[in-house]
Amino acid sequence: MNKFEQLGLNESLLKAILDLGFENPSEVQEKAIPLLLEKDTDMVALAQTGTGKTAAFGFPLIQKIDADNRNTQALVLSPTRELCLQITNELKNYSKYEKGINVVAVYGGASITEQAREIKRGAQIIVATPGRMQDMINRGLVNIKNIDYCILDEADEMLNMGFYEDIVSILSDTPDEKSTWLFSATMPQEVARIAKQFMSEPVEITVGAKNSGSSTVSHEFYLVNARDRYEALKRLADANPDIFSVVFCRTKRDTQAIAEKLIEDGYSAAALHGDLSQAQRDGVMKSFRGRQIQMLVATDVAARGIDVDNVTHVVNYQLPDEIETYNHRSGRTGRAGKLGTSIVIVTKSELRKISSIERIIKQKFEEKTIPSGIEICEIQLLHLANKIKDTEVDHEIDNYLPAINNVLEDLSKEELIKKMVSVEFNRFIAYYKKNRDISTQSSDRRERGDSEPREFSNNGAVRYFVNIGSRDNFDWMSLKDYLKETLDLGRDDIFKVDVKEGFSFFNTDPQFTDKVMDVLNNVQLEGRRINVEISKNDGGGRRDHNNRGGGRRDSGRRDGNFAPRREGGFRSDRNSSRDGGSREGGSRDGGFRGDRNSAPRREGGFRSSAPRSEGGSDRAPRRSENFGDSSRPRRSRRD
Ligand code: ADP
Ligand code: MG
Repeated sequence: MNKFEQLGLNESLLKAILDLGFENPSEVQEKAIPLLLEKDTDMVALAQTGTGKTAAFGFPLIQKIDADNRNTQALVLSPTRELCLQITNELKNYSKYEKGINVVAVYGGASITEQAREIKRGAQIIVATPGRMQDMINRGLVNIKNIDYCILDEADEMLNMGFYEDIVSILSDTPDEKSTWLFSATMPQEVARIAKQFMSEPVEITVGAKNSGSSTVSHEFYLVNARDRYEALKRLADANPDIFSVVFCRTKRDTQAIAEKLIEDGYSAAALHGDLSQAQRDGVMKSFRGRQIQMLVATDVAARGIDVDNVTHVVNYQLPDEIETYNHRSGRTGRAGKLGTSIVIVTKSELRKISSIERIIKQKFEEKTIPSGIEICEIQLLHLANKIKDTEVDHEIDNYLPAINNVLEDLSKEELIKKMVSVEFNRFIAYYKKNRDISTQSSDRRERGDSEPREFSNNGAVRYFVNIGSRDNFDWMSLKDYLKETLDLGRDDIFKVDVKEGFSFFNTDPQFTDKVMDVLNNVQLEGRRINVEISKNDGGGRRDHNNRGGGRRDSGRRDGNFAPRREGGFRSDRNSSRDGGSREGGSRDGGFRGDRNSAPRREGGFRSSAPRSEGGSDRAPRRSENFGDSSRPRRSRRD
């Protein structure tokens, strides 16, 4: 007899469970299922995210529903549309061998009349978000006056999201005799209040320590300067080529902006937040589940309860306002017994929050250092080597081999390997050569004497100030092209191009300084003499630029690293008039390949190694970028 059988579940459920591939019940299932099957009781079940709460109420619910009776017998309330759909889907799976059970999802953003029609056809179980449910009740589209079961799933989340009133109102529309099952990861006051108000002598089940995070998740933090947050995120992604992650930001706006930056920098990323339409959100989630998206940048609300298997990392790009929310974030990884890592990118002033979180999750954070350029290159190289090793050969290629051999036959094996790897890798190395180390450490770590990370030597790039800018219809890409041509330099020789309105900055290696000064100072642009000076800056492109040019517009951006990209193709492609429309739509790809200012993720097909992402990986960012586009709030995006 298998363990699920011992819990008292019937044949058709056992069969469905077999299909689901669950071998043993999880702890919360083991505790909740027999109790719920045995008698009609109220229950409060507290268990961390990812512990299988859906099945803990879903299995007994399916077994208790009378399939021959078409009336609505159960209402499941859940915080978000995503969760609502997820639970509906699960319940359908559980009941697939039980004829006649209908589960209907009710949530905002979709046709209410269609949902009402589905309910009319006979839905024994309604899974709903509180807002839409309330709406349906008000319009008399649904009758829950005779339900036997009401389940409050992720109760803490629903209350966090401000659904208290709705829940109270919905519950008051249900009969007193029903059973109420409340499932929650945490037990804040408000949840306790609901339990007290609406439940009678509930049995309480607690799995693991209350409020504690899942132990399959390890927690790490990286201390950075505030201006390096984004660079840190990129490096973490670069250092984890197989990353499959949810990246949390605090606001919709940051979520959108970070996703856009990542996409611009060639990562397969997408934004998920409340300003997207339902269809867009569905599309994003589908791509994420299909792993065409490696970095899902999300708000807390939008990502609530998302159950996607095998998420390797949760990244707290910014810590949440409410520390408790951290638990929900980190619960997106380490699910179903898998290991996961929850990363916090933190600045000095936020460090104390780490200890508060440690108290809540009852686990310690490990402080880590943002990998250096060299380390990242090593990781990526090894990843590439492994990828080459594991690549399956399509024998179509045999036809071309004689010609290829002809070209390559003089190379030794060693040379060949070196060159092959370099094809993919030169640009990566070039990028990290030009970018300084951003790691920083909290004092106790420094005291422990941990060694500084290795870094490429900065070849002492020279930063220039030039008196042409967006007013002359340049964006960073077109200015880079222009300089490249005018100076007859290669595409990697000019970097960190930062275009302002009436002036710009760029870097070269010192060997080109004479050329830059001689040639550029003697060029005229539409009748105006170009003036170039060496910026007193260190070539890192930081800070004081904005003050150049006598109080001209201060964009508030300090880093020449990614900022120019924003200034450039991306925005101008869309809000064209504003930036002079200097690039045509569709030129983004070219931008990635030719002129990227960031590590060339895109370039190397090798890097995106998530299964099934091959070939698809080119699609994903573009798609999400479209989502981002149409949904982008129309306000100025200059933060
Ligand atoms: P929670 O609601 O507690 O956050 P879920 O019910 O969403 O967790 O379950 C998390 C994941 O664990 C899902 O992918 C689910 O399919 C899986 N799961 C649930 N129960 C089991 C089980 N007994 N064995 C294996 N996997 C399970
Ligand atoms: Mg759940």
